[in-house]
Amino acid sequence: MTSAYFDNNATTPIDPEVFEAMEPFLRGGFGNPSSPHSLGRAAREALENARHSVARLIGAEAGEIIFTSCGTESNNAAIASALQMDPDRIGVVTTQVEHSAVLKPLEHAARRGGAVVTRLPVSNDGIVDCNAFEAALDDGTALASVMWANNETGVISPIARLAAIAQAKGVLFHTDAVQAVGKVPISVADLPIHFLSISGHKLYAPKGIGALYVRSGTRFHPLLRGGGQENERRGGTENVALAVALGKACDLAGARLDADSQHVTSLRDRFEQTALEIPGVYRNGHPTLRLAGTSNLTFEGVDSEAILLLLDQAGFSVSAGSACTSGSLHPSHVLTGMGLPTERARGALRFSFGRFNTLAEIERLVETLPSIIAKVREMRPKPTPTAGVSATLGVVQK
Ligand code: PLP
Repeated sequence: MTSAYFDNNATTPIDPEVFEAMEPFLRGGFGNPSSPHSLGRAAREALENARHSVARLIGAEAGEIIFTSCGTESNNAAIASALQMDPDRIGVVTTQVEHSAVLKPLEHAARRGGAVVTRLPVSNDGIVDCNAFEAALDDGTALASVMWANNETGVISPIARLAAIAQAKGVLFHTDAVQAVGKVPISVADLPIHFLSISGHKLYAPKGIGALYVRSGTRFHPLLRGGGQENERRGGTENVALAVALGKACDLAGARLDADSQHVTSLRDRFEQTALEIPGVYRNGHPTLRLAGTSNLTFEGVDSEAILLLLDQAGFSVSAGSACTSGSLHPSHVLTGMGLPTERARGALRFSFGRFNTLAEIERLVETLPSIIAKVREMRPKPTPTAGVSATLGVVQK
């Protein structure tokens, strides 16, 4: 059985060109970029070239890029820094559909009394209201944080308008752009954004590398203090091989932005054309303001975990909600935040297409999917007086 991977929002495979660029720094080019000898200097040069590549993809200056260990760290660092800026500003305005890598550090700060968090609702399409956003910002707001694109639905936020509103109110603006970088054009030079988070493994680099853009002139309090690396903004010896990988991934993404986008659009359109013909299947999220490669569909009357398992057996990797929360049967906070009833949120699957998917894989998927849905619907437990226990999956529904 040949398998097909449709979970590119969870993580992407490593592009062979990225692997090739990185490999020498895992072998002979192992120098510490802070060392003054030739091995160290070669590592430094590679690191700074990679920094330029990351900056170029988002329209930043190299000096505005800090390498981090992942998107989660980038989000944590931006939030922690903004909350240390001014003791009179502890408000943070965000949305109900952010990734846990934003919501959890904010919850933690709020519990410790270091932040007052406003989580704005979103429309049924998944978009935050700009007027509500404006009304929520005041003199006590330390930071506004709104994701560029949602990991579950692909819905794209009106970032330019939100950033302009924050600027007019004198509030720092952060965007978790982990799902957007490399998929949509981004130019921070043209937008009043102070912080932007990037993660390597969403754009064909390995896991364990990320970056944080910090606008020049923005005061920054490091999360990790140590040896003064990253221009005193993140202690810890830089992971040169992974930084090189991220730099190469950014070069490739920049060169292929249009081609990649057209490719995944055609795959998604072919997929949705057939999938939405199955009775009781609905699309979640804005139909056009979303990432080209993300399709979030609800299969009415069934638990998405059951479809996921059968698709997996048939060789297709997809996701039920966010990968970070799968394994729990709680409905996705993103979908319930968009007003989906619990039952519809439980039946949602995310198909996320990427650079290495082919039309042939999509044809196999659309051939297989209808019979899997029919099978899961047949297996659906008949209503009994003891409600709440699923005979099929043997799990207690919460
Ligand atoms: N933000 C978003 C929107 C994401 O989708 C993810 C990963 O799923 C993250 C942050 C976390 O990134 P990382 O896995 O690099 O920590």
